[in-house]
Amino acid sequence: MQRRYLVKKAGTLLVAFGLFFSLSVFPEPISSEPSDNDIDSQISSTRNQLAGLKDKQAELQLELERTRADKNATLESKQLIEQQIHSMNNEISALNEYISSLGDNVSEMESEISRLEEDYAANYEKYKARVRAMYERGEVSYLEVILSSKSFSEIFNRIQYTSAVVAYDQRLMSELTGAIEKIRQNKADIETSISESEDAVHELQSVKNQQQEKQNELEAEISQLSEDEAELLRKEAEFDRAEYEYMSTINSLLDKKKVYSGEGFIWPLPGYSYVSSPFGYRRLFFNGHDYSGMHYAIDIPAPAGTPIVASSDGVVVLAGWVTTGGGLKIAIDHGSSISTNYNHLSSIAVYVGQSVKKGDVIGYVGMTGTASGNHLDFKIIRNGEALDPQLYVTPDNSPAEKSLS
Ligand SMILES: [Zn+2]
Repeated sequence: MQRRYLVKKAGTLLVAFGLFFSLSVFPEPISSEPSDNDIDSQISSTRNQLAGLKDKQAELQLELERTRADKNATLESKQLIEQQIHSMNNEISALNEYISSLGDNVSEMESEISRLEEDYAANYEKYKARVRAMYERGEVSYLEVILSSKSFSEIFNRIQYTSAVVAYDQRLMSELTGAIEKIRQNKADIETSISESEDAVHELQSVKNQQQEKQNELEAEISQLSEDEAELLRKEAEFDRAEYEYMSTINSLLDKKKVYSGEGFIWPLPGYSYVSSPFGYRRLFFNGHDYSGMHYAIDIPAPAGTPIVASSDGVVVLAGWVTTGGGLKIAIDHGSSISTNYNHLSSIAVYVGQSVKKGDVIGYVGMTGTASGNHLDFKIIRNGEALDPQLYVTPDNSPAEKSLS
């Protein structure tokens, strides 16, 4: 089943890479003196390419998730088998110890048997001698006993003595025979146990060998899946680079167009006027880190999910996760080299390349990235320089100290 999946997966990978290579990754060159129409068509074609790339990124992401899930499942199966092998090893060594202790018992019994057999042989010799002494003379030999005795009590004692000794010998012999027989029986039982235990060990060994083969197969699958994963991650990095290229192309095309049409900028978070951290140097510690330094934005606290609006007309040039601390971030290009940034969002309602109007909802307040609470981090940038937003926008959108338009 795993093998079939790998084959199927390899097919999917080929399809994914094929699509990737057939896609033209790098943006078309921009002509030096383009008309606005040319620029528009270039922007639109770059956006289409970017949209195509986004689809491939999503497919790749799914493939990566599938590969990882499969790898995790395979790792779990491998761990399970390792546990089984471990407990079989324990069982095998317990059985081997048991077999060895039974072997010790058997040796003890064997020496006990030879001791008893020697005992038996010695007693048997004595017994035979005594019986021979008694019966060589026949039944009448009692007369000799009588005649050679000096008194009746002596006769009586001799007869009694003789028969008591013989009886004793017989009883001893029969006890010895019984004891030997009993030990032999015990020994046979123990030998049966040994051979049963040995069979069990062999059975366990063969199951264990099968499990070890399975373990090796799983290890091979895991390393194959790890290679697939690494390959997908490499593609992902290529896609990310291509995405960045498309975005820069769109940005530079927009710069050429000077499309700014907004009439001033508005407060990006209607209904929330309190600024918890203004533009400028600040001392800031949280989570054990020192974030002190220039704050090139204003922080406007609001509950998670509060709608954020575009501060002015423009085109979305970034909408997604950034690793620089902003979390989920939106950047809007307003033309005239002015852009606004919106950081730490809980979710995003626009896509890259989308035209937005002043006041359109573009996303929602959150605390993604480096943030200690729900707030909007709002930034205005002109010609690459961050401006103090509070000089240009006011919470009630009344005229501000300075104007951007
Ligand atoms: Zn901030």
